[in-house]
Amino acid sequence: GKRPGESISRGHKNYELMLNLQLGIRHSVGRPAPATSLDLKAAAFDPKEKIWTRFPTEGSKYTPPHQCCEFKWKDYCPVVFRALRKLFKVDPADYMISICGNGALRELSSPGKSGSFFYLTEDDRYMIKTMKKSEVKVFIRMLFAYYNHVRNFENTLVIKYYGLHCVKLTGPIQRKVRFIIMGNLLRSEYTIHRRFDLKGSSLGRITDKSESEIDNTTILKDLDLNFIFKLQKSWFDEFCWQIDRDCEFLEQERTMDYSLLVGIHFKEIAANGEIVPCGSRSSSGNLETEATPPDMEEQNLDPKRSGAIKLGTNMPARVERTIRKPEAVFHLVGEQTGECYEVIIYFGIIDILQDYDITKRLEHAYKSIQYDPTSISAVDPKQYSKRFRDFIFKVVCEDT
Ligand code: ATP
Ligand code: CA
Ligand code: CA
Repeated sequence: GKRPGESISRGHKNYELMLNLQLGIRHSVGRPAPATSLDLKAAAFDPKEKIWTRFPTEGSKYTPPHQCCEFKWKDYCPVVFRALRKLFKVDPADYMISICGNGALRELSSPGKSGSFFYLTEDDRYMIKTMKKSEVKVFIRMLFAYYNHVRNFENTLVIKYYGLHCVKLTGPIQRKVRFIIMGNLLRSEYTIHRRFDLKGSSLGRITDKSESEIDNTTILKDLDLNFIFKLQKSWFDEFCWQIDRDCEFLEQERTMDYSLLVGIHFKEIAANGEIVPCGSRSSSGNLETEATPPDMEEQNLDPKRSGAIKLGTNMPARVERTIRKPEAVFHLVGEQTGECYEVIIYFGIIDILQDYDITKRLEHAYKSIQYDPTSISAVDPKQYSKRFRDFIFKVVCEDT
């Protein structure tokens, strides 16, 4: 498979920023700290809980010398993020190696419309996203609830966040760049052949790529969806229950515009690169099946007992192809064709830090003049969550 993104090496316009980020993370994570308790005091969530560190070029008592212009580094609620990393079982040394090790970060060519930049660590474990000030505010506001949610629900599909930081560039250009560090949901030992970003709305929810340009890095959307997902009963029940808990949480926090990101690995790919439906083995000629790691072959499919398989990660499933009739091209769910494929799927809820602010309200207002208001992504958090769930429960079903 093709690796997404462009490696940031010397000369890249964000090379210095990447070095700043790496110096900052090494400082934040490597700094000696008292043993981390998961029972946090309310004060840890105080928005004023942040630490600014100055990184002069020549180094200081606390910071090493470096080759960049002087900059400042801010850690938001460091005690909470330490606890989150512990809760998510991230070893501090491994975390530092992933982000600050020898491998460069890769910059993804702006996958979203928001103008954020995305970086992927060399080992594919972490994604770093630049944040708007408003998103940072939303996150700090909901941090206490987020912490409790991920602590209470081990199988939550809500994206895991590991750190929130700010680099302030001093020198000739003064600007602040805010970063969030999150898990890469589609990290996989298998090639991800298709990725879908699903919201449950239709307006503009289609890729601008032509059929021949679509490949395994293309982010497909609701109107591109030509499958339904079929989960084995125990997983399906777990999935529905968890989607309900997660949506209740997002609704309570009054955020919207989030997506279910789904990555699909097709188990059987023909020599010509086409996917092969179940039961058509004989006619398809040469098959290229990626070897299944031995410890996964006899995996127990019961979510309560399995190891490497978790809700949303590495899940064996089937997908059924759907088609939209020409008169129903704006329908989110097409008609089932009976053509099924064995897959391994990955999914989770991403981009949860947008609140229904004045810009989203205005977007809703002016698009409503021209379009069906229910087709617009920007709706209030309650409607958003309802529409999202209704849609998700239509495209994910029990495999019978
Ligand atoms: P917009 O607000 O226009 O939807 P954005 O700039 O806020 O976009 P996101 O929605 O966060 O961006 O992400 C854009 C794309 O990047 C997603 O559709 C997904 O393909 C990929 N992506 C984002 N976060 C993750 C993640 N944690 N793991 C894997 N892929 C991700
Ligand atoms: Ca998004
Ligand atoms: Ca967004």
